[in-house]
Amino acid sequence: MSHSLDYFDATHHEVRQRVRGFVERQVKPYVEIWEAQGEFPEELYRLAAEAGVLAVGYPECYGGTGGDLFAKIACVEELMRCGSAGVVAGLGSLDISIPPILFLGTEEQKMRFVPPVLKGNRISALGVTEPGAGSDVAAISTTAVRQGDHYVVHGSKLFITSGLRANQLTCAVRTGGEGYHGISLLVIDSGHPGSSVSKKLEKMGWLSSDTAQIFLDGCRVPVENLIGEEGKGFYAIMENFQNERLHLSIMANMTAQLALEESITYVREKAAPSRPAPTLQGTYHKLADMATLVEASREFVYRVAAKMNSGQRQVMEISMAKNFSCMVSDYVTEEATQIHGREGCLRRCLVERLCRDNRILSIGGGTREIMKEVISKLLIDS
Ligand SMILES: Cc1cc2nc3c(=O)[nH]c(=O)nc-3n(C[C@H](O)[C@H](O)[C@H](O)COP(=O)(O)OP(=O)(O)OC[C@H]3O[C@@H](n4cnc5c(N)ncnc54)[C@H](O)[C@@H]3O)c2cc1C
Repeated sequence: MSHSLDYFDATHHEVRQRVRGFVERQVKPYVEIWEAQGEFPEELYRLAAEAGVLAVGYPECYGGTGGDLFAKIACVEELMRCGSAGVVAGLGSLDISIPPILFLGTEEQKMRFVPPVLKGNRISALGVTEPGAGSDVAAISTTAVRQGDHYVVHGSKLFITSGLRANQLTCAVRTGGEGYHGISLLVIDSGHPGSSVSKKLEKMGWLSSDTAQIFLDGCRVPVENLIGEEGKGFYAIMENFQNERLHLSIMANMTAQLALEESITYVREKAAPSRPAPTLQGTYHKLADMATLVEASREFVYRVAAKMNSGQRQVMEISMAKNFSCMVSDYVTEEATQIHGREGCLRRCLVERLCRDNRILSIGGGTREIMKEVISKLLIDS
């Protein structure tokens, strides 16, 4: 896998080495066990923090190690080399739940909610999705009614990554009327009375990440936990989606990259020595197509990221990048399974896990169809 020198400098390389070391020592040897158990140990958050992995890309004043979008990209790419998107999603739940606090929160809130998470002492999750509201975020029905110096919250949040273990939930609630204007953000502590969690949801992929439903039954949250003004939550959630979509695009590219690498190894070591040469041409051509698409997708996503890094709004382009990278990872994981034949159907085969984990990428963070809605609206309106 070649990295363009235009995008990555020495500081990014240092992040890459640091995260690679963490993955080699603390993650890779245990991934198969965690996948079978359906979770990674909670201690991994602290180990990741000690290794300087969780804090990549966050401001130093809140306990971060600094760095731009390409530091984060280097970090996610190396984490994905562990072969389990579930581990990456579980450790990465802070990357969808902390940015809205940094975006809208007061200085006091940032100091209270961010450093403990970056140190691995507290686990943070994002609560937007509900049983009755997925793609249509503006339809959420969890209410937060102010009573004196508390909000009383009623409702539930579904499919929450790290939901089972999270100490704090950056949660979308309705403080006002219908539609997106009525949505606000509250940080809800798992210890607040009235908050409880379901059993872990059993998923097809991302097996190591815990995913749960959170019930908020008259949950009392201090007003100091309101992030930004009432009614500004939707705006922060939409802003947050841009980085999440970049994150998922990088995960898709790495899923495809790993599937390609596994396929090359399989062809070299198993298919080529055992099959007559004339029957191999189709397989070699599959590898050629897979490699071409992986290269194109990686360069496209880097280019969009570079524009985001320089402060340009890339709402349409990052939606295109997410759909394109997921299309490529769908194709490449499918072809990788085909190349592996029966081997690709076995649980112990990495390609099998990549296929299952991959399926979630074009659903989470905005589905393929919602990306097309965003792209087509911006095409027509501009
Ligand atoms: C493993 C996993 C982890 C997740 N983690 C989190 C988390 O940490 N926090 C969180 O808040 N959420 C999380 N989610 C939820 C995720 O954000 C939603 O699944 C996603 O937004 C899609 O919503 P939905 O599943 O309800 O699908 P729906 O909105 O019900 O959509 C179903 C289908 O209809 C299509 N559709 C819906 N509306 C339209 C439309 N307007 N135009 C065209 N087609 C449409 C969709 O594209 C999709 O194909 C997670 C999901 C998964 C699978």
